[in-house]
Amino acid sequence: MKALGPIPVGYDSIDGVLAVGGKAVTHWVEQAGSTPLFLYDAALVRARVSDLRAALPERIALHYAVKANPYPSLLKLMAGLVDGFDIASGGELEIVRGAGLPLDKVSFAGPGKRDAELEAAIRAGVTLNLESEGEAARALAAGDRLGITPRLAIRVNPSFDLKGSGMKMGGGAKPFGVDAQRVPALVRAVVSAGAQWRGFHIFAGSQALDAQAIAETQGQALALAAQLAQESGVALPHCNLGGGLGIPYFPGDVPLDLTVVGERLAEQLANLPEVLRDTQFCIELGRYLVGEAGVYIARIVDRKISHGEVFLVTDGGLHHQLAASGNFGTVVRRNYPSAIATRFGADVEEEASIVGCLCTPLDKLADKGGFPRAEVGDLIAVFCAGAYGASASPANFLGQGPAREMLV
Ligand SMILES: *Cc1c(COP(=O)(O)O)cnc(C)c1O
Repeated sequence: MKALGPIPVGYDSIDGVLAVGGKAVTHWVEQAGSTPLFLYDAALVRARVSDLRAALPERIALHYAVKANPYPSLLKLMAGLVDGFDIASGGELEIVRGAGLPLDKVSFAGPGKRDAELEAAIRAGVTLNLESEGEAARALAAGDRLGITPRLAIRVNPSFDLKGSGMKMGGGAKPFGVDAQRVPALVRAVVSAGAQWRGFHIFAGSQALDAQAIAETQGQALALAAQLAQESGVALPHCNLGGGLGIPYFPGDVPLDLTVVGERLAEQLANLPEVLRDTQFCIELGRYLVGEAGVYIARIVDRKISHGEVFLVTDGGLHHQLAASGNFGTVVRRNYPSAIATRFGADVEEEASIVGCLCTPLDKLADKGGFPRAEVGDLIAVFCAGAYGASASPANFLGQGPAREMLV
């Protein structure tokens, strides 16, 4: 039997059925009309944000990285909870616009922004996090064409990365950001061209569970921001310190110690160099805010035995929950937290693999896990599905189409 990842806190059962948002998942499936279904628990998101606010220094604003989960109802919920949004495409700009979010609180990072995307962002008053000198020139030209002063920040490619992070986004040659040593000259060029100078964006990595590593990276980001502000000779209005706070997905993963992150950051802010005295700071988080608040529900349509192994074949799969199949940025496949939702909390009775309905051996949601015996018609749950689930999976693969989503 292979271990399953840890089920996040906050999930109980009602009459033996997994409950989300205070109701059994069977209730939500009935409301939705069918499976598969993503459920996002608003109360868990609210609790996560309030825990963060309590732990972090007040001076740190909180941004939500929309790419983690752009579901419109969830974005509306986030609008009342966070201080800003980070988007990564013109498509996400339209999603945040459609959700009625304040666009002056949006920043747009990401390589390969097309001219039409730059123009749409400038028109909307969105801050552009410039990824290169070439993009800076195109953004300034777009501002001239439109007769609108663009709001520009520079994404810095730092010389450090976030240790132990699942996805490294800084350190060495990268398609993201401008190499640190070239940043001061670009700041001066952008400012002298008449843009509204917004500051730096320094993002060094994702999915770290080690509070000390996060604190160390934040300290390095602050030091780099101070150095670059000094060298450029221009005051720094704003600095996005990146994010990287991770969640436990796999057996043995231990939740991040938020108290340590908050305390270390408070110390660092108390000892800021003069050049950052008036700078506003934010961190940008995706999965930490919403990942554990989401559950993916699918129904078992077949139960079969092959060479003595039990396969629970569901109507879901990697076309909705690619990350749980181990094909989204992981090297070794390990089991996400999962359960038989309609027998939640029941004793383990057998070893079984939960698979999807796609014709590929990659389509495995749980590999040889220990579960209560499940039958056709039972519902399965995959946890940690609130981030990089629906929007980060190939929904059209094999003609399957998207899953439903509900904020509850
Ligand atoms: C993806 C991304 C994030 C969000 O990452 P999480 O691991 O979900 O918190 C934040 N900032 C940038 C620049 C990103 O690319």
